[in-house]
Amino acid sequence: MTHPYRLMAPGPVPLAPEVLKALSEPMIHHRTPEFDQILSRVLKALPDVFQTHQRVFVQSCTGSGGMESALVNCLSHNDEIAVVVSGKFGERWAKMADAYGLIVHSLNVDWGHAVDIRQFEAFLNAHPRVRAVLTQACETSTATLHPVREMSEITRQIVPEALVMVDAITALGATPLSMDEWKLDVVIAGSQKAFMIPTGLSLISLSQRAWQAAQSARLPRFYLDLRKEQTSNQKGETFFSSNVALIKALDRVLPRLTGANRLGQIARCDGLATMTRKMAERYLGLATYSKSPSPSVTALVVPSQIDGTLVRKNLEAKYNVTVMDGQDHLKGKILRIGHLGYITDDDAVQTLVLLGKTLCDLNYNIPLDDLGALEREGRDLLKATPMP
Ligand SMILES: *Cc1c(COP(=O)(O)O)cnc(C)c1O
Repeated sequence: MTHPYRLMAPGPVPLAPEVLKALSEPMIHHRTPEFDQILSRVLKALPDVFQTHQRVFVQSCTGSGGMESALVNCLSHNDEIAVVVSGKFGERWAKMADAYGLIVHSLNVDWGHAVDIRQFEAFLNAHPRVRAVLTQACETSTATLHPVREMSEITRQIVPEALVMVDAITALGATPLSMDEWKLDVVIAGSQKAFMIPTGLSLISLSQRAWQAAQSARLPRFYLDLRKEQTSNQKGETFFSSNVALIKALDRVLPRLTGANRLGQIARCDGLATMTRKMAERYLGLATYSKSPSPSVTALVVPSQIDGTLVRKNLEAKYNVTVMDGQDHLKGKILRIGHLGYITDDDAVQTLVLLGKTLCDLNYNIPLDDLGALEREGRDLLKATPMP
């Protein structure tokens, strides 16, 4: 029996049919009336996903480029900043800031735990001169959701001048997040995660305060200079050659993430995550790793007698399903299953059934009846949150 390919990583993600179609169309030049219309539709639609009245910029780089854009556009050499480090992506932002000569104060949070608000408060009290507070909304390496709204409120109280910068790359579009209402100053998203298109675009929005900071910030910037991007956008262009294929794909997929579908998409991710956690625990005996599980990605604990890296490999080689291993000290210990992108009920449920079979192949016994029950119950659970 051959199995269809299922891409169940927390990015890149499976593509919707309209995106596949957009990507197969003939190339057009970015200086054409046709592309001008596409770009202006995209720039008009994006603020709804961010829940902001500010403009959203589309930069041609991966999500990490968006994280770098936040730094170079808003900060200056020797600025003190606070960085939440709760996994690989927090580590990345801290290293990036260090490379730019920023003075980094890290709040180290145990992997798999959400930021503790009291601890966060004490940390900010200890560093009253910070110009920015950086955090992931969802730390993808541990599948953990942080209380960003509360963190933003506390930041305003303790260090009112500091900019709140949020890497929302696996959160925006998949979990509730309102940039304006939560008073977030910089929000970053990435194309291959909740935006459901291939890797290569980063989306970023700045509050009025952050935009003011961008006028006087002194870190070197050229490719990622949002002031130049804004000037170009006002002429209906992008600063450099437009990423025509991906911007076109974004144009086609945005109806799934905006307007009446916005909350449906968020509910869908939550439905997939809840089903995955429940079924894995009940029928596969796999516990959820995170104490604050994210609706966008689930990390399951692999039983200690089994090597998770081998499970990941076998699941892909024999059953054509890609999930992700843990990183660093979690390698072989957890498996991460994504809930972003064009994921059908069948994809979500079969991933768990085939994971069960893979575990059986490795002599971790799961009764076949249980896999049947998982399949029925999983499908039933998903009926409440259909794909919008
Ligand atoms: C994927 C991801 C990024 C960006 O990674 P790129 O490989 O540069 O696209 C940043 N932060 C988080 C939380 C992510 O999940």
